Amino acid sequence: MDLGIKGKKAIVCASSRGLGFGCAEALAQAGVDVTICARQNEELLNTKKKLIKFGVTVTAVCCDVTTESGQAMLLQACPEPDILVNNAGGPPPGVWSEWRREDFISALDANMLTPISLIKMVLPGMIAKKWGRIVNITSQTVKAPVPALGLSNSARAGLTGYVAGTSRQVAKHGVTINNLLPGPHDTQRLVDLDNSLSKENKISYKAARDSRMATIPMGRYGTINEFGNACAFICSQHAGFMVGQNILLDGGAVNSTI
Ligand code: NAD
Repeated sequence: MDLGIKGKKAIVCASSRGLGFGCAEALAQAGVDVTICARQNEELLNTKKKLIKFGVTVTAVCCDVTTESGQAMLLQACPEPDILVNNAGGPPPGVWSEWRREDFISALDANMLTPISLIKMVLPGMIAKKWGRIVNITSQTVKAPVPALGLSNSARAGLTGYVAGTSRQVAKHGVTINNLLPGPHDTQRLVDLDNSLSKENKISYKAARDSRMATIPMGRYGTINEFGNACAFICSQHAGFMVGQNILLDGGAVNSTI
């Protein structure tokens, strides 16, 4: 399917690997020039090499997207993006009694205030062009909490509330804002979470992974390719009427009717 976005420009945050990379790759495949970022330069430059083969312009910005300077660097590299994919690392798992104020501030900074800040920076340009697509990578935890991910549950809920209102304020300008909610996907993040599950329950890594997979009707983890293609569709011309939605990609893991 022609997504109709060839020649557009995208900022894809936190994209040297994992879900962010999946989105950058699918957008590059659709002919979109991508600005990618991560904190580690070597991994980022390897990622850039993988994306250049699609014949698009790839700009790599080595920065921490959760900092003001990192966000400024991204906008300097791509001042007028047509597409913004918000993403950052997720907070660590833990227990309610151990989370301090500083832990909440870090989670809110990374997973709520950073995307809000970038949305505010790119919206004026998108509104002026009467076209824009913003996709926030959030989490299945928005719909169904994972108890050990209380920091994530809290921060993502805040962003979801902001998007629900803001997306409706800007829709008339041809700009859409939506959230993509990953359930378990096969990335480094899941390797880390399965390792901590294995330690917590004193079981092997494989047993932890198998037990998590058993909770997913599809019986497997999602791939970054599936995730990226869903993101690219939301960024396409075809999804111009989709506003303020929370799209779950979880192999059926969240057991709900609607
Ligand atoms: P990942 O660890 O595989 O990849 C994270 C990417 O973000 C890497 O490229 C890393 O370099 C980059 N990154 C992290 N923090 C950054 C920062 N401050 N500045 C710049 N770059 C940064 O993780 P993933 O699985 O792709 O997860 C992406 C997001 O999706 C996370 O917020 C995670 O919590 C959330 N999520 C993932 C899953 C899953 O199953 N993988 C499920 C639910 C939610």
